[in-house]
Amino acid sequence: MQKKTLMLWLGLSLGITSQAQTTLKTTPKLPNKPKLVIGIVVDQMRYDYLYRYASKYTNGGFKRLMGEGFNCRNHHYDYVPTVTAAGHAAIFTGSVPAVDGIVGNEWFDQKAGRTVYCVEDSTVKTIGADTKAGLMSPKNLWVSTITDQLKIANNFQSKTIGIALKDRGAILPAGHTANAAYWFDSKDGHWITSSFYMKDLPTWVKDFNSKKIPQKYLAQGWNTLLPLEQYTESTPDDQAYEGKLSGEQKPVFPHELAAQAGVNLLEVIRSTPYGNSLTKDFALAAIQNEQLGKGSQTDFLTVSFSSTDYVGHAFGPNSIEAEDTYLRLDKDIAELLSFLDNYLGKENVLIFLSADHGVADVPGFWQAHKLPAGTFDATAMTTAVKNALNASFGEGNYIKADENNQFYLNHALLKARKISVSQVYEVVRETLLQRNDVADVIDLQHISESSIPTYQQGYVRNGFNPRRSGDILYFLNPSWFTGRNTGTTHGSVYRYDTHVPLLWYGWKIKHGETSGRTNISDIAPTVADLLSILEPNGSVGNVITEVVK
Ligand SMILES: [Zn+2]
Repeated sequence: MQKKTLMLWLGLSLGITSQAQTTLKTTPKLPNKPKLVIGIVVDQMRYDYLYRYASKYTNGGFKRLMGEGFNCRNHHYDYVPTVTAAGHAAIFTGSVPAVDGIVGNEWFDQKAGRTVYCVEDSTVKTIGADTKAGLMSPKNLWVSTITDQLKIANNFQSKTIGIALKDRGAILPAGHTANAAYWFDSKDGHWITSSFYMKDLPTWVKDFNSKKIPQKYLAQGWNTLLPLEQYTESTPDDQAYEGKLSGEQKPVFPHELAAQAGVNLLEVIRSTPYGNSLTKDFALAAIQNEQLGKGSQTDFLTVSFSSTDYVGHAFGPNSIEAEDTYLRLDKDIAELLSFLDNYLGKENVLIFLSADHGVADVPGFWQAHKLPAGTFDATAMTTAVKNALNASFGEGNYIKADENNQFYLNHALLKARKISVSQVYEVVRETLLQRNDVADVIDLQHISESSIPTYQQGYVRNGFNPRRSGDILYFLNPSWFTGRNTGTTHGSVYRYDTHVPLLWYGWKIKHGETSGRTNISDIAPTVADLLSILEPNGSVGNVITEVVK
């Protein structure tokens, strides 16, 4: 090669190199996978809370997730019952109760002849306490989770951990192959687990427990974060339809959280925003001590904030207590995001946030504003049904259980007396339709024959499993439920129970939003698509294409 040609060649190649470097600098290449995925569930968070309290949120929490991330504004559950266990399972399996088996927090087991709890497991032991609070595992979940699929995809090199005050909020998201799931035992205020996961708590968990952090929170009492008069989004503090914290005379601030006989404050802490702050503290400790995101493979942490649910049930969505709980959760989420900025960098973390169900406004609040709503005594209703069955078919114990608004029939008795389920159904329906609060009564073997709208039939079908569900479902009118005159609940097909947030943030996520309908079962397949791994085996959802493009 001649000298001139060589110079030209060098110049060209240098030019090309520096051009390439410039390009590289202006558009930094994203890592090809995130170091850490965090799936956040806010227990009982309805969609509208993102906006309702927005003027008081910080810039670093919910508003940062919305402002920098992708917001699926029209995200819904598409099954009933809309309850905690079913919701956590659906988010992480991309499935529905009909397929994943989690048809409620509890269901009646016809074979065992008793009601079973979603994550109970008598074959394991409690690790970290001398209570029965650890006799839990995911064995009742029939399918894999997205956390399981991540581990399968890389030959179990990922670390996956689930954290929540509620056992089911930690266990179901973390899946069958989890390194750990931790939940809160109110007896000593410790984070515990079960022998399904490990033989002994890691030293860092023991150290965390020994710091007595719950006691430190409780000592502060619970007063409002902002001056009380600034809570203009909520009803005045003292309402007859609000529930009370254990040991309190009135549902008002300041909630002293003072020690008194017969009250376990380590249980009461669940119903205060401190339960969420404690969950955040423990999640940060888990990330650092387990070095999540620092290995060669993507790790996955699931965090469910349970206190929003306890507070919501007791005081209702329009209470100052609920508003204050969300303002404080916003700060906890801001702290988590800012920690991750320094620890891994936003571009290395993929986060999604959703909820396991919404909630109804408190019926008393609606009635006070001339809106149609109410609660009624389920026992009285069931007695009426039993009396009608006795009158029609002779004395007998025809109904074995009433769970999730479903009657489980005594099939042995029906068989012995040659009574068909349809005959029983006709009597139950006729009896219940005399009530104004019951919308319809559905024979669960003949869902499509019911008169409820087709889309609601689909919700019932998605929530029904022949081995775990009941025989007859009573379907209540909007804003009606069985229960007491204070507080509220969830579980229905109606929009206040199905419409929840879905926010995406971090690695590969572009800013934007959609009002196109997305379903809860779409979350896991979307995570699978982002990570280029297989969807969970029971998944029925679709990839949300706006999120991944
Ligand atoms: Zn819940």
